[in-house]
Amino acid sequence: MSKYDTKVNLLNGPSPLEFLPNLSEKLGPKIYVKRDDLGGRGGGGNKLRKYERIVADALERGADTLIIAGHYQSNASRLLVATACQLGLHSIVVSKPMIPEQNPSFNQNGNALLMKMMNAHIIEIDMQADYLSEMDNIAHNIRQEGGTPYIIPFGGSNFLGSLGYVDCAQEILHQYKEAVGGEPSHIVVTAGSGGTMAGLVAGTYMAGAKTKVHGISVLHKDDTIHNIVDSLVAEILEKLGTSSSDIPEIHIDTNYVGKGYGLPSDQGKEAMMMTASSEALFLCPVYTGKAMSGLIGNIREGKITSGDSVVFVHTGGYPLVHAYYDVLG
Ligand SMILES: *Cc1c(COP(=O)(O)O)cnc(C)c1O
Repeated sequence: MSKYDTKVNLLNGPSPLEFLPNLSEKLGPKIYVKRDDLGGRGGGGNKLRKYERIVADALERGADTLIIAGHYQSNASRLLVATACQLGLHSIVVSKPMIPEQNPSFNQNGNALLMKMMNAHIIEIDMQADYLSEMDNIAHNIRQEGGTPYIIPFGGSNFLGSLGYVDCAQEILHQYKEAVGGEPSHIVVTAGSGGTMAGLVAGTYMAGAKTKVHGISVLHKDDTIHNIVDSLVAEILEKLGTSSSDIPEIHIDTNYVGKGYGLPSDQGKEAMMMTASSEALFLCPVYTGKAMSGLIGNIREGKITSGDSVVFVHTGGYPLVHAYYDVLG
């Protein structure tokens, strides 16, 4: 236990680690999936691990209203609304049209539909508006009315949020050792706002494992994502008392973003089809489909080979399959 371990309980114990025999046979390496798409309320997904500590911090500060930057198809927003709903707090989603409408029901389907069912309070702002200043204004108004607002960091990717994925790295290594023996050679995960990957890198490193963590970028095509992950990893190692002069190597692949965030790629679609048709496992066009296309690409390029074992972290996003119902043609 460290002083950072105060959590609200949003998950019910470790998520399963499952072997994917059909996909392994197709691709070569032994492929396992960490089911972080399961567990908790609101439809599940990686943001819940992050919110366990972030929302505990909000409660410690007496917050009654959680504010998040998002959009109609944001998993982070859907799960924040779900968390607030469960805990009896208010939430406000400040929504920008981050992703152009992909089909006629894009802003009513998927995450938008689930948020509506939870009676979410969504405030729309222009694409040009600045999230942070809009959230500050809203927070200011809430304070004026006697409330206590708390602004959630972008994508839940700050130090406290990332610690949820230090926990996850420990779970993966433990479950793998019990089920298979030894440690996996690779972990592959989506890198969006970067906190999930940073926690996995730091957690794997602190456990002394040689497992190589690959982040597949779905948002930034440049060094931005590297800078975010590097500094989060350094902060975690420093605050958890590990010498930060010795920072693990960080592997991020920016070749699988495609045309941009939220815009489906052909490789992502192929990965979604392959995973669903061989394992009945559903990935989405925004995050996990692109991450799986990165894994497939790395295997085809011979960077990950048949002798390797890979844990693919399924970070959730199932509602996006419906929002992008027309993506597979
Ligand atoms: C947010 C999200 C990610 C990305 O996680 P980051 O910590 O922001 O990098 C991956 N997959 C899904 C389904 C997400 O909702």
